[in-house]
Amino acid sequence: MKIVFATSNPNKVKEVNGIVGNQFNFISLKEIEHFTEIPEPFETIEENSLHKAKIIHELYKVNVMAEDTGLEVEALNGAPGVRSARFAGEPPNHDKNIDLLLEKLIQIEKPENRKARFKTVVSLILKDKTLQFTGLLEGHILFQRSGSKGFGYDPVFQPKGYQTSMGEMSSEQKNMMSHRYLAIKQLMDFLNNY
Ligand code: IMP
Repeated sequence: MKIVFATSNPNKVKEVNGIVGNQFNFISLKEIEHFTEIPEPFETIEENSLHKAKIIHELYKVNVMAEDTGLEVEALNGAPGVRSARFAGEPPNHDKNIDLLLEKLIQIEKPENRKARFKTVVSLILKDKTLQFTGLLEGHILFQRSGSKGFGYDPVFQPKGYQTSMGEMSSEQKNMMSHRYLAIKQLMDFLNNY
């Protein structure tokens, strides 16, 4: 079955392909010659994820998968959440986002008070079905960057049960436990039984 992955983020394409291996072949937006960025106008990760899938489904009448991810920090009442990409303003900048996050948490000294989680919502639209799968990864925000692998907030996020940041993990390691893996795994289980 052919499924288009509605993202223009090369990091996500790489990670999702690393997760699914050769079990599935997701088609990129480039391959269907869609070159414009899909807007994320909503207030929740769920709505933005579904919106991206809907836009591509309606334009090209294809099976489509989309995902939206956010980092939710407990001490910031769930921020940056849906605004994770633009936390420090426009244009999106990972370094500035991390600087702002560390600054906002500067007074919070205990790791147990720096709890955070990554949330990935994958939306799937097939001709007869629309579904969502959620992957949640709990952890905490470190006091400074550690490692330069991965992308986004990975260098300051330490998953629960691990001794390193996600920025210190190899892509293989991240792809076996990440929020994106947890959501894509449910998608794969569904597709294998479909
Ligand atoms: P979006 O899903 O592209 O809107 O991503 C929202 C923000 O979360 C961006 O700033 C990303 O860099 C960040 N982000 C998304 N996925 C990950 C991840 O796996 N690790 C770290 N940051 C991520």
